[in-house]
Amino acid sequence: MLKKFRPYLFMLLFSCTTIAQSSYYFENKEIKPGTKEHFLIPVSTENNATLIPITVFNGIKNGKTLGITAGVHGYELSPIMAAQKLITSIDPAKLSGVVILVQIANLESFLGRSPYVSPVDGKNLGRTFPGSKDGTNTEKIADYITQNIIAKADYFLDMHSGDAPEDLIQYGAYYSNAAMPEISKTGREMAIALGFDRVVVFNTDGKKYMHKNELSLYCTAEAFKRGIPSIDIECGRLGIMEESAVKKNEQSVIRLLEHLNFLSLKSQKNKTKEPLIISDRIYTESKFDGIFYPEKKAGEYVKKGMKLGCVTNYFGEVLQTVYAEDDGLLMLIISTPAINKGESLTVIGKI
Ligand SMILES: [Zn+2]
Repeated sequence: MLKKFRPYLFMLLFSCTTIAQSSYYFENKEIKPGTKEHFLIPVSTENNATLIPITVFNGIKNGKTLGITAGVHGYELSPIMAAQKLITSIDPAKLSGVVILVQIANLESFLGRSPYVSPVDGKNLGRTFPGSKDGTNTEKIADYITQNIIAKADYFLDMHSGDAPEDLIQYGAYYSNAAMPEISKTGREMAIALGFDRVVVFNTDGKKYMHKNELSLYCTAEAFKRGIPSIDIECGRLGIMEESAVKKNEQSVIRLLEHLNFLSLKSQKNKTKEPLIISDRIYTESKFDGIFYPEKKAGEYVKKGMKLGCVTNYFGEVLQTVYAEDDGLLMLIISTPAINKGESLTVIGKI
């Protein structure tokens, strides 16, 4: 007799292990299980006011919370437009857990078509974390994201691309620290799961921004310092909205959701191949204000001593010839003419 009841017993046990999701509250608004809500968060100072567009997806099943930011740099359009696609491609009726997606973190930079910095206060949101609730417009945005997205997240992803002058290869990246092996390992697995051919290690050992009393600068570093596995996407170049990069960006987020069991689509699970891991990068700076003439493209392999370009003054006279400082993969090269003293002209990934 007992045998007969065993299947029912098993089913009962199984149903008890799947915990039903409860409503999620964001900005005091209820988001029922299996639904999403859009928010426009007002941020204002004495002199200006802006909004942060955010979508919160509450899954049908219980689970963890993933925070995602796009548009920290408002002219990096491929990740911003990928986030627009994620509004419909993340189906809360099939989701486990909660996804908080900041659609365009720096709306003034986006609307003002302003690379790197906000036209409102001239600050780079990507270097402003954790921000300040009494600060400038950009500092207040950083503070809001820190307190309301990063602080609630179990995992964190920040989406970028090559900004207006940057020819950049596509890659996933993760934060790593010798004192945080488990969190680093989880981040590494997340970055690999994104499905890019290259994964960059942001080794934070000895970095000033990792100290408790120092500014984190990057939202991903702020998350990592709080013990949250933290990753970046770089996908797209030159501030162009390329359909292929938008698609790749979107797909990489879906892959991440599958990897972290927010979604169980299975379809892409076995397709992740081992990427090239880049642990060391060499930056070459411009020694002058002037005009840069690049002679290579991102993605090319270079040899030490190879000419990569030159900087001239405004009368065509060469001030600096730029050579590869080592063998490696050219990850980034400035590919529009204007260059400022101290800016990185090239980044080579050592492999
Ligand atoms: Zn960026």
